[in-house]
Amino acid sequence: MPSRSMRKVTLFTLFFLFSFQLLWSQRKGSLPEDHLSSAELASHLRFLASDEMLGRMTGTNEINIAARYVAEQFRMAGVLPVPGLNEYYQDVLLERVTLAQSGRLIIGKDTLLHRKEMIVARGSAADLEAELVFAGSGTKEELATKDLKGKILVTNYQGSSLATAKWKSAAEAGAVAVVELYRGNFPWQSILQFLGQSSFRIAPDGKQVDLPYLLLNDAQSVYEAALAGGGSVKGSIHSEGVLVQKVQARNVLGMVRGSDPVLREEYMLLMAHYDHVGAGLRAGATPEDTIFNGARDNAVGTVALMAAAKVLAAQPPARSVIFAAVTSEEVGLIGSSYLADHFPLPLEKLVYTHNTDGAGYNDTTVVTVIGLERTTAEERLKAGAARYGLGVIPDPAPEQNLFNRSDNVSFARKGVPAPNFGMGLRSFDAEIAKYYHRPADQADEHFDFTYFSRYCQAFAHAARLVADMKERPVWRQGDPYEEAGKKLYGR
Ligand SMILES: [Zn+2]
Repeated sequence: MPSRSMRKVTLFTLFFLFSFQLLWSQRKGSLPEDHLSSAELASHLRFLASDEMLGRMTGTNEINIAARYVAEQFRMAGVLPVPGLNEYYQDVLLERVTLAQSGRLIIGKDTLLHRKEMIVARGSAADLEAELVFAGSGTKEELATKDLKGKILVTNYQGSSLATAKWKSAAEAGAVAVVELYRGNFPWQSILQFLGQSSFRIAPDGKQVDLPYLLLNDAQSVYEAALAGGGSVKGSIHSEGVLVQKVQARNVLGMVRGSDPVLREEYMLLMAHYDHVGAGLRAGATPEDTIFNGARDNAVGTVALMAAAKVLAAQPPARSVIFAAVTSEEVGLIGSSYLADHFPLPLEKLVYTHNTDGAGYNDTTVVTVIGLERTTAEERLKAGAARYGLGVIPDPAPEQNLFNRSDNVSFARKGVPAPNFGMGLRSFDAEIAKYYHRPADQADEHFDFTYFSRYCQAFAHAARLVADMKERPVWRQGDPYEEAGKKLYGR
């Protein structure tokens, strides 16, 4: 046994060595993200983008395995579950909607077939005949002037969100079906293809509308002309109804408490979607490869998120951080929109969202931040990337409205400053198209693992720098979301 004084000396020496090491590491500015292991990051990516994951499609068992993987990485890193949730899971109950194979609509002498001239997009099975009532664009005012009881409401199609409103109003007014006349920008064939696939939606609470809803191709305005006159025209509908199945999806969430006693009451959200488009012999696939592995989209972001969780748990920044691997982005930004609507904390405590997603890369010297110049986090994002030798470029194609087409928009819409961090994208060229939503998007010899490691480090470090900002980041003046921000934060 060593003597008391010896023990003191040993303790002192240890303390001295420890302090010295701490000082040394601070002087060098060494951070956990500097020591992320490339082998570990590559291993996560190979797992999530493996053929065994079958493209992580919403509604499959494989996506649940991916979710479990992320949750266990959070647990291993010491990331805490968010109070009020089911451990690391936020359950998201969805419905998968599959259209019938056949159906018909008869107007006067014309027989119009499902999946040809028209499409039965919603509603349960029906066999009915009724008078057609035309109500222009189907605005609230137009509907109020018509007696719809027992009638088939016909309106001009004005977009999918209005369609839902008209469908509900028609049901309330006692109509037996809704037919919308389509004359939109997209060719009818692509509408048929788009609506013909299974789709997903958040399961609605309460009583559901089950009125048949049909979209009819009226490119030449023939039916509008026939019905707008107001004469009595009968129609009949035969529909097998759409198939609605419940699907349990989940967002994976974790949190790290901030190190600053005051700023830790503010939160930052790091987010990446972990789902992809699945497998099957469809556009882009060959009989030899039908698995859409989604390495770049978005196993990369999912690994960057897990890496950030690991290093921020090891050395927490000033603000608290919530990590969210969100589901069902590929089927309509569903997971992020559910998270924004059911955020586990009061939303005004969330000061910033740092999302990562992308279509791929064609420049490995930079990262691309969509919305870079739109918030006051700009300099921190640049510094985060610069630490690992990467530049930052803004949106290469503003005309494509990418900002509003990724998960970040679910939070931007609520007012939370929310750019999207992505791999280096200069333009949508052949190099991007080769992999984007193709089976070739996999973790193989064409994938740049060195760049990927630096990308993960840059994402994590940029997050740390924003979470450490003295002043919370805000939308730049004049931004389309500035008003929403003022409303959310009351300033
Ligand atoms: Zn994506």
